[in-house]
Amino acid sequence: MKIAIDGPAGAGKSATAKAVAKELGFIYVDTGALYRGIGLYVIRKGAKASSIEEVVPLLAEIKIEMKHIENEQHIFLNGEDVSGLIRTESVSAAASDVSAIPAVRDFLFDMQRDIAEKNDVIMDGRDIGTVVLPDAELKIFLTAKPEVRAERRVKQLLEKGIEANFDDVLADVIQRDYNDSHRDFRPLKLAEDGILLDNSELSFEETFEKIISLAKERMA
Ligand code: C5P
Repeated sequence: MKIAIDGPAGAGKSATAKAVAKELGFIYVDTGALYRGIGLYVIRKGAKASSIEEVVPLLAEIKIEMKHIENEQHIFLNGEDVSGLIRTESVSAAASDVSAIPAVRDFLFDMQRDIAEKNDVIMDGRDIGTVVLPDAELKIFLTAKPEVRAERRVKQLLEKGIEANFDDVLADVIQRDYNDSHRDFRPLKLAEDGILLDNSELSFEETFEKIISLAKERMA
């Protein structure tokens, strides 16, 4: 079985998908980490992440692998485990830029398909229900109001001891939403047969329960 979870940054896709995977015994695949791996490589090479001319030639030098170690997804970039290094703000921005390049999306496509063919998966990203797994049995578009997502992000950062200004974070959330949903190639959008789940007013548990009950319906 395949479950696709798409939606904007900060909707809680990864935390929810991880918990759902655990409950159902599925493999959780965070596809954003793949784009982040490429973003990191591009930064290290000093290339401009939004430049097709600079990024495309680098793809031939990149080997990205995804391995599950003790139920945690790890990303390897040319053999180096970069799972921690890809979580910075600069890598987020580079990932968002490289993800608009069609050759980058094609480069990662087969890998995502391949994992889903071999396992029961719950995969999160931006184009999973629409492009990567159009055959998924369940497609969820998980979202929340920008203000709610920005507030969650500020809280997360503060918990890590990082000072954050709500207005700056909100502006960043709005900018990333715009980039992801307005790129020409495979933008973020609700799949025709997808279910829109706005969790602005829902707790984590309520979101989790809702997805589990939809998944169980589809599995029956
Ligand atoms: O999900 P995450 O924030 O880690 O993803 C980083 C960036 O990668 C996103 O801002 C988005 O632009 C891009 N992405 C994508 N398609 C996916 C997953 C992520 O374009 N399936």
